[in-house]
Amino acid sequence: MRKHSIQDLDRTALSRLSAALKLPAFEKGWVWLAGAGPGEAGLITALGLHAIASADVILYDALLNDDLLAFARPAAELIFAGKRGGMRSCKQADISQTLVEYARRGARVLRLKGGDPLVFGRGAEEALTLADAHVPFRIVPGVTAGIGGLAYAGIPVTHRDTNQVVTFLTGHGADGKLPELDWPSIARGSPTIVLYMARKFAGEIAEKLIAAGRKPEEPAAIVSNASLGEQHVSVTTLAGLGAAAAASSAPAILVIGENVRLRQGMDWLSQVTTPPALRQVS
Ligand code: SAH
Repeated sequence: MRKHSIQDLDRTALSRLSAALKLPAFEKGWVWLAGAGPGEAGLITALGLHAIASADVILYDALLNDDLLAFARPAAELIFAGKRGGMRSCKQADISQTLVEYARRGARVLRLKGGDPLVFGRGAEEALTLADAHVPFRIVPGVTAGIGGLAYAGIPVTHRDTNQVVTFLTGHGADGKLPELDWPSIARGSPTIVLYMARKFAGEIAEKLIAAGRKPEEPAAIVSNASLGEQHVSVTTLAGLGAAAAASSAPAILVIGENVRLRQGMDWLSQVTTPPALRQVS
């Protein structure tokens, strides 16, 4: 699926950058669990990019910006480990086992995920399997969609005047149902609630929060394809969240709270005339 590959000259520049930043060497037989950020390629960390450029095998997810794979070594094996296509079975246990097997054969194995690998990304399960198998691993954090994605919508995840607490939650439990959470505590305890994987149950979640005392007219927003050219932000209310979510496209981050209003002054991305995906650094 390799679309294009960077030139040798760029590869040399990249290894100079890694040396200047004193980045750790990717040793053979190691697994690195890395996050690539929420979408726009530039949101990967220098360490994440260095990992891509050094790996022998890269297992990547559906939400990955595949422009980043151009930095892989030409001989690197790229394995799609998302829910669609790719590996015959993408069960979590199989992915973890594949990481172990490649590492035991002496490969530099990169497990590359969207956002941060440890935020609703099952990175911990993989890390624990590697630990059990005595495979050495490193974790490379990434910009998570619930923070970076909101920043691209001009919504600060915290602001002194609106919220000194923020709650991150997933709207999708392990069994595919709405997780059983202490909704009254969430409603009372956190002025700002950021929801991942919540398009399906957004209406139900809003009802539970309203039943627990949150105001139906409280501002809420849905950020679809955050940081990508197709980014779309829909600003609504808690009462309107279900309908707005049904009309939104995936992937989407939902946010409820007064901090959403700050977008009125902070929506920097609409000031940028070309879509982020087309912008070039000159
Ligand atoms: N580990 C990832 C989250 C994986 S769960 C992270 O830290 O960001 C997948 C969910 O992340 C999606 O359902 C969506 O809620 C959110 N998400 C990921 N990328 C996104 C994007 N570009 N725009 C909006 N939401 C995104």
